[in-house]
Amino acid sequence: MEAKVIEALKGGRRLGIMGGTFDPIHYGHLVAAETARDELGLDNVLFIPTGIPPHKLNRRVTDANLRYAMVEMSIRNNKYFKVSKLEIEREGPTYTIDTLRILHTFFPEQELYFITGTDALRELFTWREPEEIIRLAKIIGASRPGYDSYGLLASFARKYSFPKDQILLLEIPALAISSTDIRARVHKKKSIRYLLPDEVRLFIKENKLYQEL
Ligand code: ATP
Ligand code: MG
Repeated sequence: MEAKVIEALKGGRRLGIMGGTFDPIHYGHLVAAETARDELGLDNVLFIPTGIPPHKLNRRVTDANLRYAMVEMSIRNNKYFKVSKLEIEREGPTYTIDTLRILHTFFPEQELYFITGTDALRELFTWREPEEIIRLAKIIGASRPGYDSYGLLASFARKYSFPKDQILLLEIPALAISSTDIRARVHKKKSIRYLLPDEVRLFIKENKLYQEL
């Protein structure tokens, strides 16, 4: 991991982790990260754009450096938010468990909080080594319009055994924003203003991203 990121995160007690494709980053991601930071008293939230997302192998994903740049410009004005190329620089598909192990090695004394929307949370037990993920980090399921997080947690509790306080639900101001919808809007030449930071909107325009789906 980048020396400057390690330096910036050192000394904290609670580290939030916001993984995602961020193709592009939008206000849904930022609100989830900020609400988690505020509600759970996190010292920092580390954004980790995926390299090749294992579950998105069938879609063309925007170049990692462009996705990283959009995250970077979006979080610049929040001193608690950091971004790392940890997953981008790893070869092949990247798995959450590997990332958590690396973070745990760098910051053994910090509690890790893995922030995810309820849509992604649904898939948790299909990820590689779910029990280990839940052991290494608390999972924070941020509400997302259209997904029943309480029903989901109840079904997890029936089907799997895990320490109950390792998966927490977080109500965030509902934002029915998704990267898929933003890409589709750009493709159809519809406005994406106010769905994401303005710098990102201009960056998409300048780099002619998402003109094809
Ligand atoms: P795509 O439509 O391409 O899947 P996305 O909007 O779901 O993009 P991702 O990069 O896949 O964004 O998501 C990263 C993480 O952020 C996931 O855990 C996802 O559930 C969460 N997330 C994304 N959008 C929201 C939102 N509007 N509210 C809450 N969580 C969100
Ligand atoms: Mg998604």
